[in-house]
Amino acid sequence: MNVYFRELSFSTRKRRELVDITNQVEKTVCESGVRNGMCLVYAPHATIAIIVNEHEVGLMSDIMAKIERDFSSSIGWLHDRIDDNADAHIASAFIGSSRIFPIINGKLIRGIWQNIFVLELDGPRSNRRIIVEIMGE
Ligand code: ZN
Repeated sequence: MNVYFRELSFSTRKRRELVDITNQVEKTVCESGVRNGMCLVYAPHATIAIIVNEHEVGLMSDIMAKIERDFSSSIGWLHDRIDDNADAHIASAFIGSSRIFPIINGKLIRGIWQNIFVLELDGPRSNRRIIVEIMGE
């Protein structure tokens, strides 16, 4: 079994934002040379999540509205006493900081309406990174 990884670095511009990383992840799968295996996309941050869905502006706004509704700020979270970003931590904890994809015949398998997004929950940040780790043969 081979293991290959790459770190993607980027900045975010808003407090909450979706960043489409599908191309970079698929490029990493190509570079790895792995034909069959798995691809882990992992965010080593407590205030980011990884999601998979359609890159359509209306839906992307709907997702942000749902997050706003479900993970509201300023409702007296205890962690806000430290650095005022409890909503971002809680959203990341519930949505999750990783996703796994199958690789079959050298291609990452995803639905046509399934793009891979980083969900920034506490931006803007200049030093965000995502680990893409590919295991297989
Ligand atoms: Zn915090």
